[in-house]
Amino acid sequence: NQRIVLVSRPQGAPVPENFRLEREALPDLADGQVLLKTLYLSLDPYMRGRMSDAPSYAAPVELNEVMTGGAVSRVERSLNPKFQEGDLVVGATGWQSHSISDGRNLIPVPSGLPSPSMALGVLGMPGMTAYMGLMDIGQPKAGETLVVAAASGAVGSVVGQVAKLKGLRVVGVAGGADKCRYVVEELGFDACIDHKSPDFSDELAQACPKGVDIYFENVGGKVFDAVLPLLNAKARIPLCGLIAQYNAQDVPAGPDRLPLLQRALLTKRVRIQGFIVFDDYGDRQPEFISAMAPWVRDGKIKFKEDVVEGLEQAPEAFIGLLEGRNFGKLVVRVAEA
Ligand code: NDP
Repeated sequence: NQRIVLVSRPQGAPVPENFRLEREALPDLADGQVLLKTLYLSLDPYMRGRMSDAPSYAAPVELNEVMTGGAVSRVERSLNPKFQEGDLVVGATGWQSHSISDGRNLIPVPSGLPSPSMALGVLGMPGMTAYMGLMDIGQPKAGETLVVAAASGAVGSVVGQVAKLKGLRVVGVAGGADKCRYVVEELGFDACIDHKSPDFSDELAQACPKGVDIYFENVGGKVFDAVLPLLNAKARIPLCGLIAQYNAQDVPAGPDRLPLLQRALLTKRVRIQGFIVFDDYGDRQPEFISAMAPWVRDGKIKFKEDVVEGLEQAPEAFIGLLEGRNFGKLVVRVAEA
């Protein structure tokens, strides 16, 4: 078995030296267990949190332990009556080429998908995050305006497309002209603003002539600063992620702006609510799949994958995810399907 372990905790942005690729022999299968071969490993921003030992909603990865992560695997051998050799499953099996499971937290990959990796993206955790955060906390209504950043990515692309299906004006924020073009031309957003533009706040304001009713928060930082003055009365903010802050070691320098923020929330009666997808919506997976699967099948929701070849590339690809180097849902092809 090849696996990538965490050898040190990052100070700021992760570096390749935080990870080590190593080999180990797997123990024999016991009764009730299955041997899994990893086909696709999902790389996701939350993994940055697991590399730190700061208190969070989930325990950190221990030093010299395999990095946590969701993956699509094929059952190679089964001593569990619920699984047959050749079955494709999704599970939190980590950054490794093989794993052993008792089968308890394995979910079958829906059959008939063009690629099983979709179960890690549009039909998996990020897709469900987008759908639940938007529908449950965002409460979208036709004619409203929604803003979402990381708009070409796994979560943002689904948020915007679902909001379009619900009749909203949808403005994306993304890094660079290529991503912005894709978001408008392929995904059908009404506009997409490049956060690297020197006139970013003005351009965002121009794209939202009727203000902002829903801000689906994926990044924090300067995007939040630009959206705050545009919020309409009774705006909703599903607080999904703050990727611009994940590598930060301290609170940013400068004056305390909390009083300003509180005043805006009060006078505009803004509702802001954080959520953690499986903790808050784990029991609603069937509802998500029954809405999303037909949309994807009928081409109403499009998606893009950024596929990296080989487990050894995972650290570099993950470091790039936190810098916006990925274009679409980031997955590592660990073995041929
Ligand atoms: P993406 O596929 O969107 O990839 C991350 C993107 O974030 C990058 O491509 C980049 O896009 C953007 N980004 C990275 N660094 C910065 C920065 N410093 N400032 C602004 N943008 C940046 O990732 P996901 O769709 O998987 O995740 C999106 C967000 O959703 C994350 O914050 C993640 O933590 C959160 N999330 C939350 C969950 C929950 O349960 N609450 C579950 C799943 C995800 P660009 O180049 O366009 O800026």
